[in-house]
Amino acid sequence: MTKQLKGIAVSDGIAVAKAYLLVEPDLSFEKLTISDVDHEIARLSEALGHATGELQLIRDKAAKSLGEEEAQVFDAHLMVLSDPELIGAIESNIKDNNVNAESALKEVTDMFVGMFEGMVDNPYMQERAADIRDVTKRVMSHLLGVKLPDLSMIDEEVIVVAEDLTPSDTAQLDRKFVKAFVTNIGGRTSHSAIMARSLEIPAVVGTQEVTAHVTEGEMIAVDGIEGDVLVNPTSEEVANFEVKAKDFAALKAEWDKLKNAQTVTADGKHIELAGNIGTPKDLEGVNGHGGEAVGLYRTEFLYMDSPDFPSEDDQFEAYKAVLEGMEGKPVVVRTMDIGGDKELPYLKFPEEMNPFLGYRAIRICLAEDEMFRTQLRALLRASVYGNLRIMFPMIATLGEFREAKALLLEEKAKLIAEGIEVKDDIQVGIMIEIPAAAVIADRFAKEVDFFSIGTNDLIQYTMAADRMNERVSYLYQPYNPAILRLVKNVIDSAHAEGKWAGMCGEMAGDQTAVPLLVGLGLDEFSMSATSILRTRSLMKRLDTTRMAELANKAITECDTAEEVVALVNEYTK
Ligand code: PEP
Ligand code: MG
Repeated sequence: MTKQLKGIAVSDGIAVAKAYLLVEPDLSFEKLTISDVDHEIARLSEALGHATGELQLIRDKAAKSLGEEEAQVFDAHLMVLSDPELIGAIESNIKDNNVNAESALKEVTDMFVGMFEGMVDNPYMQERAADIRDVTKRVMSHLLGVKLPDLSMIDEEVIVVAEDLTPSDTAQLDRKFVKAFVTNIGGRTSHSAIMARSLEIPAVVGTQEVTAHVTEGEMIAVDGIEGDVLVNPTSEEVANFEVKAKDFAALKAEWDKLKNAQTVTADGKHIELAGNIGTPKDLEGVNGHGGEAVGLYRTEFLYMDSPDFPSEDDQFEAYKAVLEGMEGKPVVVRTMDIGGDKELPYLKFPEEMNPFLGYRAIRICLAEDEMFRTQLRALLRASVYGNLRIMFPMIATLGEFREAKALLLEEKAKLIAEGIEVKDDIQVGIMIEIPAAAVIADRFAKEVDFFSIGTNDLIQYTMAADRMNERVSYLYQPYNPAILRLVKNVIDSAHAEGKWAGMCGEMAGDQTAVPLLVGLGLDEFSMSATSILRTRSLMKRLDTTRMAELANKAITECDTAEEVVALVNEYTK
């Protein structure tokens, strides 16, 4: 009988194939008292050496199949393997307690993992915990002489089923043979999910129980669009999935044809479809999916991936690379947005009760203005290489905007006095993420060149619902009329002053929100690269007059988000 499971759809696509069960290897060991300490340390060192060699191979493979950017996660793993603090602690544990290397490795890495995992508000440190766990498994396998399952050896069509996939597991998947994967745990932003999207392998995660229902070689059908998994499907169900797979492939082929097309609605209005990036490397995705601009460059990753503040020159190189890579198309660079869930190990502040409401983004930049000036100088110097637009995040008051802009103008004047060329027509805008700014957007519109609505934060602040807290996720409602009214106010205010309004929060790529936003007259939509073509395809089918009617009805006649969704469905049938 068919067993139906539901999970989180994290990577589009449909697949039917035999299950390949990724079984966790037995890495159990006995804690032993040893007398030859040097021998144990030598064993540890040998295992570390083997693990390093293996990881280097995986890294090279990942760089080829996924790109340098994704391969960087293995640099983090390699760094763990050569971290003197960690290795020193394991060696001391062996010496001080006269225990075998396995026991010392486990005790010390458990301690580090526990410490990092305890930092629940800090996804960066949680990822470091996952890195250490992944690396420990590899070193332990060498100490015990147990072979880790080798996903890169798969040479027939399968669907990988696992409790979870580590980044190193995912990097070994060959999309020629691995048709999809399904896991018990994970979420949309877990590393394996992000990699699945880059590899374009359909994936469903967080099913909680898939491993309990699947045996090796059993047929399974996976729908990475809806999150459905069928174990042991009937021939009729398989046929249904095959139809869905065909339909999806046809859709994708249609989308791909739009790669070099302009984004125009059914009635011929041009809308700018842009991509969000975190690093210069991400440009490949934006260009590969036909992005017309970069609508959000999250520069804080430059700071987070660096052991200390990135220098003005390092920043200049990164901004220049992005501007040149876009060949004159617009690039909106957001100044550093540290704080909230994004911390810098080298920039320590007293702990806060509510980091999302605390010292972050522009608030830090205005207080630590040397750091901010360095970024502004790097941006100004890079401006001559393309079409730069500068955007300040988390602006709550006009005073903040004026202060930030004054610093920008000061640095510009200094550079010009030094004989350094700076572009003259750089647009300067703000993110609308704070309800206070959305409400008085009419005042801001007189002074800024553009708005970009950051709905990820705007929704959490408007609904008073932490975007990271699953218990209140029901309140995270992009289609709530309250949000739509704020968005409308921002767009109308911009237009009244002849300025443009864009959106770079996740809502911009949400297929239910897009018709509403087109109806509200949003000028620019910026989203993850893989959503660009499907959005272009959707926009082609939308008539702006009809969508304006939809948006107006949603705002004036709907009481709830559910009613808005029903209305959108009615208008886009
Ligand atoms: C937003 O808040 O919508 C946004 C785009 O910024 P981030 O997700 O980086 O906070
Ligand atoms: Mg934000």
